Amino acid sequence: MAYKIDSSKCIGCHTCMGMCPAGAISTSADGKCVIDTAKCMSCGTCASVCPMGAIVPENK
Ligand code: SF4
Ligand code: SF4
Repeated sequence: MAYKIDSSKCIGCHTCMGMCPAGAISTSADGKCVIDTAKCMSCGTCASVCPMGAIVPENK
């Protein structure tokens, strides 16, 4: 199960991007971050560092 970013909560601080050991997080055109679910190892690091609580496990 990969993690996903709720773009309505993301403020584009990019803290998560530097913390991801898999390099699965990148910046989208609007400056917010997105997770490549194919690369995500579900370690939960990004979710624990996000100041907005915008990163949550995918339900399916
Ligand atoms: S859960 Fe881990 S591997 Fe997946 S995007 Fe977050 S930091 Fe990267
Ligand atoms: S840490 Fe949270 S608020 Fe900051 S860019 Fe990542 S998802 Fe967005």
